[in-house]
Amino acid sequence: MIPTRSTQAWQAADAAHFLHPFTDFKALGAKGARIIERADNIWLWDSEGQQILDAMSGLWCVNVGYGQTALIDAATEQLRQLPFYNAFFQTATPPAIALAEALAAIAPPGFQHVFFAGSGSEGNDTVVRMVRRYWDLQGQPQRQHIISRWNGYHGSTMAGASLGGMSYMHAQGGLPIPGISHIQQPYWWDHGRAQGLSREDFGLVAARWLEDEIQRLGPENVAAFIGEPVQGAGGVIVPPASYWPEIQRIADRHGILVVADEVICGFGRTGNWWGSQTQGFRPDLMTFAKGVTSGYIPLGGVMVGERVATALIEQGGEFEHGYTYSGHPVACAVGLANLKLIQELKLVEHVREDVGPYLAEQFARLKDHPLVGDAETCGLMGALLLVKDRVRGTAFAPEQGVGMVCRGHCFGNGLIMRAVGDRMIIAPPLVITRAQIEELVHRIRRALDLTLADLHGRGWL
Ligand code: PMP
Repeated sequence: MIPTRSTQAWQAADAAHFLHPFTDFKALGAKGARIIERADNIWLWDSEGQQILDAMSGLWCVNVGYGQTALIDAATEQLRQLPFYNAFFQTATPPAIALAEALAAIAPPGFQHVFFAGSGSEGNDTVVRMVRRYWDLQGQPQRQHIISRWNGYHGSTMAGASLGGMSYMHAQGGLPIPGISHIQQPYWWDHGRAQGLSREDFGLVAARWLEDEIQRLGPENVAAFIGEPVQGAGGVIVPPASYWPEIQRIADRHGILVVADEVICGFGRTGNWWGSQTQGFRPDLMTFAKGVTSGYIPLGGVMVGERVATALIEQGGEFEHGYTYSGHPVACAVGLANLKLIQELKLVEHVREDVGPYLAEQFARLKDHPLVGDAETCGLMGALLLVKDRVRGTAFAPEQGVGMVCRGHCFGNGLIMRAVGDRMIIAPPLVITRAQIEELVHRIRRALDLTLADLHGRGWL
């Protein structure tokens, strides 16, 4: 156990030594980080003893909730038995084999193979190398180009950040890498509402932006299209139901591979095992991470469908790619225990039939709040759009940072909700109950009321 220290002592050591991800180091150093010390179920406790409802499942990952002994025991036993061995030199470990087999069993038809990585970013780097290798093996080496979307998130490595459509990330480090371009996201509020399109009509328009980009590049040069079934880090952007089926039709027409980044949507988040099932498309590859171990230990990878697997295996030769921790035995043992627990607790059905629809109902009620312009959910992902004028749908000025103001009121009131611009988003653990959803929505409403009063006080309304 790590000896306890005061909050101030942790903050001082943190500022002195720990460079946090996606953080303005100087600003955080001046303020001091919040120190999270323990957790149980959907609750966190910080070093000041405040109990916080974790409506973000850590970082979209703690699907089974905190404190699950089955996962803890699996890790402990595997650490004793065999803490590490690699899978490079014609060796394998039982947990890696058993998890690959278990993943194939829960995957859509045609997915029989898994390539393991340590994270979602590494999974997407694998995707880039794998699809380009696939087309080389098909005798079409010019098919190198991958299309993704603005405001998509695919990780923070060079390829992951390049696939992602966050321009502020591209601005640091000379990204994107060559052979990647982006089309506009299927966000009706920003790109379809003002044009007077219904959501469903807009879904078709947005999907056809893929056709335009394919024509611009020449179909013979396009390797793959990648997207999150529901964009997570971009602000929980739920595409119109018409979007993904049309994307599938376009990709099929040109023989282009479809990659679903299931890092957030996988493992029950949207009410099916995979978000692509909820959104009605059949990817060739699926990136996964986060929920595969419920975040208890790092693990990611790629589910490889028949089309690509057959080429790699039958025509193959060596695939020159892999990580020290590809198939890490402890991570895979935790993954296995996690999948078993999701099945035992029937969490996928729980989301699809019970708490998912209940959250949708509760979120719809929040639309009566003066700050809420739109509320949408998909399974246990949800977003509230904060607007200045609900009737006209007028946005706040971005520099006012109204989402961050609201986030401050959430934190102050024992609720972790994330702000993406003025979209307030949640993705609570899948074990959440109806009563806990009521508590969550109660806390959200309180934070919205405090934000409203705060904005009036600032003269912003
Ligand atoms: N893809 C998606 C859809 C994600 O949400 C994330 C992480 N939020 C990643 C990839 C990257 O995963 P990691 O942070 O594990 O590298």
